[in-house]
Amino acid sequence: MKTILVTGGTGYIGSHTVVELQSKGYEVIIADNLANSSADVVDRIEKITGIRPVFIKADLSKEQEAAAIFDTHHIDGIINFAAYKAVGESCEKPIEYYQNNLQIALNMLANMKRMGIQYFVQSSSCTVYGEPKHNPINEDCPTMPATSPYGNTKQMVEEILHFVTKSGDIKAIALRYFNPIGAHHTALIGELPNGIPNNLIPYITQTAAGLRQQLTVFGNDYPTPDGTCIRDYIHVVDLAKAHVVAMDRCFENRNKSNLEYFNIGTGNGFSVLDIIRSFEKVSGVKLNYCFGKRREGDVVQIWADTTLAEKELGWKAELSLDQMTLSAWHWQQQLQ
Ligand code: UDP
Repeated sequence: MKTILVTGGTGYIGSHTVVELQSKGYEVIIADNLANSSADVVDRIEKITGIRPVFIKADLSKEQEAAAIFDTHHIDGIINFAAYKAVGESCEKPIEYYQNNLQIALNMLANMKRMGIQYFVQSSSCTVYGEPKHNPINEDCPTMPATSPYGNTKQMVEEILHFVTKSGDIKAIALRYFNPIGAHHTALIGELPNGIPNNLIPYITQTAAGLRQQLTVFGNDYPTPDGTCIRDYIHVVDLAKAHVVAMDRCFENRNKSNLEYFNIGTGNGFSVLDIIRSFEKVSGVKLNYCFGKRREGDVVQIWADTTLAEKELGWKAELSLDQMTLSAWHWQQQLQ
């Protein structure tokens, strides 16, 4: 039985990944500073799986706190979610974002070298592609300059991995997520945005729940069929499973190079209006929304070519858009 250190494991994607890892027989150690999550997520994970993961409250950007974990626990692989993730905030506090996100990744890698740990899965993002010239986009498409410090930290960690994995002591897989939404079907874990949400789905569910007055659709004059932006929304549980198969690939020695990249999306593009329609259908709630100005920095449309993940990881997203919006609504409803 292999033990995986999941950094940021009480966060949104991290917690769902812990559940999937445990259900496939992995032992899990969560390390999280709880800056953007809560300790009771550990109880909720235990409720779902019947297994309590080891939980360590630690600031992994601090060298000593990070090293102490490796000195006291046996670890076979790492999945690195711990990072600041708000695009807008990253423009206001770029130095904090670089310090935190890069230092965490470096501390993990330094300790892997020190302890002879081989396998690293990095939470990356489709933001590395910028505005694609064509869709669907595959992993060979060149990355574009980032439009925010947050996106830049994702690119920089991929670049760091490029050189750190050269010697072959460490093998890494970077999973480039498209737009994760939804929640576990038990509604015991889900996304907990701090304050006013930036992302579409929490804004929709909070508006439907009466916590926000109205959703503003950012732009309806884009060159898309209905004028609103298109994204590849993926159920967080499907995304979580991609991490498990990435880890399996490492332990079964199936990596084809020291650093591999995979797009993790569904391969389908949906517009903002498609999302609203799906939400209204599954929830039975009429959403109060209006059209507003375009949001600065938004790409017009992007969706994934997932051929490589299907072929190499044997992974494919299974849950539908309606399942995504319904699970997000169930999660919102139990929060109140
Ligand atoms: N969006 C919107 N209103 C909101 C939040 C988001 O219209 O209050 C749109 C946004 O312009 C984009 C899509 O929803 O087209 C997804 O945005 P989100 O912030 O969830 O993810 P992103 O793709 O920016 O990472």
